[in-house]
Amino acid sequence: MDKPTKGIDTRLIHAGEPEPRIEGAVTMPIFQSSTFEYRGEDSYYALRYIRLNNTPNHVALHRKLAAIEGAEAALVTASGMAAITTTLMTIAGAGERMMAQDCLYGGTHDVMRLEFPRMNIAVDYIDATNAASWRESLTPQTRAIYVETISNPLMQVADLRATTEFARAHGLVSIIDNTFASPINFRPAEIGFDLSLHSGTKYLNGHSDIVAGAVIGRADLIEKINRTLSHFGGSMDPHACFLLHRGLKTLGVRVRYQNASAIQIARYLSTHAKVAAVNYPGLEGNVGHLRARELFDGFGGMMSFELRGGVEAAAKFISSLTIPISAPSLGGVESLITQPAKTSHSGMPPTERERAGISEGLIRLSVGLEATEDLITDFARALDAC
Ligand SMILES: *Cc1c(COP(=O)(O)O)cnc(C)c1O
Repeated sequence: MDKPTKGIDTRLIHAGEPEPRIEGAVTMPIFQSSTFEYRGEDSYYALRYIRLNNTPNHVALHRKLAAIEGAEAALVTASGMAAITTTLMTIAGAGERMMAQDCLYGGTHDVMRLEFPRMNIAVDYIDATNAASWRESLTPQTRAIYVETISNPLMQVADLRATTEFARAHGLVSIIDNTFASPINFRPAEIGFDLSLHSGTKYLNGHSDIVAGAVIGRADLIEKINRTLSHFGGSMDPHACFLLHRGLKTLGVRVRYQNASAIQIARYLSTHAKVAAVNYPGLEGNVGHLRARELFDGFGGMMSFELRGGVEAAAKFISSLTIPISAPSLGGVESLITQPAKTSHSGMPPTERERAGISEGLIRLSVGLEATEDLITDFARALDAC
């Protein structure tokens, strides 16, 4: 049993750890063994084998992740996309539909646009900030409603309470991609989400050195998704489990530092003459600010902004920076900066990108753990140069 602990920081360290400790080891050892001795297990899924997601490294992580978000169960996967696709293919099948936020992570949007039609799964896109408009997208075949806590790359905050209420009223499974918020800033189960998905590649691991995913939520659904994962094979390797487990322990200190640093940077950028707009839910003027303040414990380390000089200024700005690295991905210890139109959303047709409000010159920043003053000094110098 887990120790009777309260704070999320204590759960990050101690929840799910094996008891008694294995050979007294203070940290969870890596069980780099594909298969385990047969001990009379009476079903295929009970056999211990890495693809069946039940080695000691998997089991400890599942318990820890469930405890962190205050949910019944959890499951780790080989990537965030494995978590998303395995979950959606479990919840909806041929001839069925799902409702989804209209501005999604590029990879999720690609799956819905390029893969789902072949499986005869249809997606009805909704303005997730306007609950009054959802009813018209509901059909007898609709199985789920899918949103992101903070949308990428415009940092919109969907009407998350209305999402769970709508799902409950119409018998849908409510699913949220909680990657950008992380469990430090938002725990979806607390307002009734059935399933919370993560790219563990980002904040959960936090060190830009693995790809990983997680599904956290209702035990009955997690059991079904685990079966699907065992069939499709997007299972996490024990060494990646170990790294994710290790990264998770510092999630609280990392994310709270990033929250504090990001709000200072967002305020600095929003008052600069060369900056046209800053998208960050922590800013008082942001459309999602009140909702974010009500629901979240922090506004996160992600923001996007546009320069008055557009695409050309954006390229010059990024190449003039000395601290943030120009690279896709996010949530690591190093600040990363990208132009979504060239990276995460390059698979989206330009007309759709424009409709979603993602301009060619939009810049996305993932705030790392560097000194905030150093980052602001670097931004000031790069803005002078463009
Ligand atoms: C990165 C990301 C994913 C995909 O995760 P991978 O680990 O790269 O497969 C999904 N959703 C969001 C919000 C992401 O940022």
